[in-house]
Amino acid sequence: MSHHDERTFVMVKPDGVQRGLIGEIVSRFEERGLKLVAGKFIQIDRELAHEHYGEHEDKPFFDDLVEFITAGPVFAMVWEGADATRQVRSMVGETDPAESAPGTIRGDFGLDLGRNVIHASDHEDEGANEREIDLFFEEDELLDYERIDAAWLY
Ligand code: ADP
Ligand code: MG
Repeated sequence: MSHHDERTFVMVKPDGVQRGLIGEIVSRFEERGLKLVAGKFIQIDRELAHEHYGEHEDKPFFDDLVEFITAGPVFAMVWEGADATRQVRSMVGETDPAESAPGTIRGDFGLDLGRNVIHASDHEDEGANEREIDLFFEEDELLDYERIDAAWLY
C-alpha cells in the first residue's frame, strides 16, 4: 500500500445479492482503478448487525434494518486507492436511491431507502472505514500484492 492509498469497506447487501448484482458492482470498482484487497461471501448474524449499525440503534428503522441485513448473504469487500472512502461513496450515491444521480450504483439499481443495494463506509465519519474493515475481516484476510497496472493507476 503506497502512502497516499486508503482502504474502505464495501458490501453488497442481501437485495443486491438476490438480484445478481455482485459482478456488476465489483466491475465498477475495478474499472474505476480501485484495487481489491479482500472479499468474502457471508451471512451476517444479529450480533454483527447490531455492531455494524450501532450508530442507528435509536432510529425508528433500526429493527427493520437488522432484519433486512440478516435476511440473506452479503458480499463484503475491502477496496484500496487514493481517497478510496470518498471515491467509493461518490460512486454509490445518496442513502435514498430517489435522491441518487443516474450513473451511481444506488441511482441505477436502488429501489428505496431500505433496498438500496450496497453499503460503503461513510467518509464523513472519521475512522469508519478502519472500524468496519476490522469488524468484518481478520488482518491476514487483507492481501498485500502488486497489480501489474499499478504504474498507470495510483
Ligand atoms: P448510508 O448507507 O448511506 O451510509 P445511513 O448510514 O444513514 O446511510 O443508514 C444506514 C442504512 O439504513 C441505509 O443504507 C438504509 O438502508 C437504512 N436507512 C437509513 N435511513 C433510513 C430511513 N429513514 N428509513 C429506512 N431505512 C433507512
Ligand atoms: Mg452510513
